[in-house]
Amino acid sequence: MYGGRVMEEGPAEAVFAAPAPPYTAALADAVAAPGERWAAAAPRLAGEPRSPINPDPKACGFHGRCPIGQDVCRTVPPPLRPMPGGRRVACHFPPEPPHERPHRI
Ligand code: SF4
Repeated sequence: MYGGRVMEEGPAEAVFAAPAPPYTAALADAVAAPGERWAAAAPRLAGEPRSPINPDPKACGFHGRCPIGQDVCRTVPPPLRPMPGGRRVACHFPPEPPHERPHRI
């Protein structure tokens, strides 16, 4: 979830192995590997979080911080769409297929 909205859902193993929307990928990268104090690959997101008090109902909640956001993300909220493996993703531009990542947790 980000800003009170579900960004991705599905089996945890599948989501963390290949997160689809950029927010889930950033969240997964922020998890420290066993033995690490800090996640070495933790991304630094640009921009500022949107107001949780007055969210824009017409925009993706991650727009403004998303590295691949486009104009449509500012004017049309992405619905949760089904993806392979029983997952659902709220993103206009999820990678297809989701990128496999090294298993960190
Ligand atoms: S809908 Fe747009 S802004 Fe939101 S996560 Fe996807 S690409 Fe990024």
